[in-house]
Amino acid sequence: MVFEIRELLEGYDKEKLSIATICSHSSLQIFNGARKEGFRTIGIAKEENVKFYDAFPLGKPDEFMIVDDYKDIPKLAEELREKNAIIIPHGSFVEYLGAKKFLDLKVPIFGNRKVLLWESDRELERKWLEGAGLDMPKQIGDPKDIDRPVIVKYHGAKGGKGFFIAKTYEEFEKLVDWSKPFTIQEFVMGTRYYLHYFYSPIREDGYKLSKGSLQLLSMDRRDETTIDELQRIGSISELEEIGIHPTFVVTGNIPIVIRESLLPEVFRMGERIVEKSIELFGGVIGPFCLETVVTEDLKFKVFEISARIVAGTNPYISGSPYSDLIQPDLSTGRRIAQEIKYAQKHDLLEEILS
Ligand code: AMP
Repeated sequence: MVFEIRELLEGYDKEKLSIATICSHSSLQIFNGARKEGFRTIGIAKEENVKFYDAFPLGKPDEFMIVDDYKDIPKLAEELREKNAIIIPHGSFVEYLGAKKFLDLKVPIFGNRKVLLWESDRELERKWLEGAGLDMPKQIGDPKDIDRPVIVKYHGAKGGKGFFIAKTYEEFEKLVDWSKPFTIQEFVMGTRYYLHYFYSPIREDGYKLSKGSLQLLSMDRRDETTIDELQRIGSISELEEIGIHPTFVVTGNIPIVIRESLLPEVFRMGERIVEKSIELFGGVIGPFCLETVVTEDLKFKVFEISARIVAGTNPYISGSPYSDLIQPDLSTGRRIAQEIKYAQKHDLLEEILS
């Protein structure tokens, strides 16, 4: 990053901000939330995707900017700035654009860009999460040391693609693709909860932190093919015997709530993550998600963090059982728009944009 947010905002008419993102992932929710807060919206799309948005008049952007390839988004930077645009990065935004182009994009981005470096490098991610006192699944350095069920994750693989389970070194050896870098993690047995938080460095209401406050907006469970429905035709071991192995490709999201007695720990974990992020890189601003497994002794193991809006918030466009207790009809997309509106009103945009 070779610029300061102050410079980027210099030419902006702060009374006429617009909200822009790539038309994919959680964009319907982002546009819908921005619309509810009175913002103009811009969808960056490929021509063939535009028609689809007509199906959802309340989720479509006011305006489309068409690209042949998302990698060309930097060419739109000047036009986006002329439109006083703030980009809302979602999971696919960084994936489509590429990390380097994302970091260098000369348009104000909601949240702290630096967080990307911490979440995309597995070692830095572990330093952050364990440094915050969270319990992560054990990592196994040498495959020969596999002494329990493990999940093997290829670096940079999106949506669980190519991941596999092994219970012994022999199984691992049969399935591994040595040409790709991978990590071996203990497979944590329990139930999965994907916790969706929102950290505001500029609001002091609600659950207070050393600076700002933290909200829990929703939670979901991912639906992953084929692992989540394999039991319909037999046990995993039966299938593995005939060479069929489960996969972990995300296909959708299922709404869920957690035992109320676990909520204090949910907040404690979110709090520690934010406090550590402030210390390490100036803070994870806005939405973030902890991907967790709750074990039978009711302990959380955290296997991943996503430091932006995740698709697991999509079931809650009109609010969740948690956000309903903050304000009715509050999606994560709408909460982002509210944060921008509040910052705009109190001249705090530099605190939440980068
Ligand atoms: P990830 O890309 O790390 O989110 O992993 C993709 C999916 O694999 C998750 O949504 C989980 O279903 C599963 N998974 C990942 N890590 C673990 C783990 N350590 N133990 C159990 N399941 C896991």
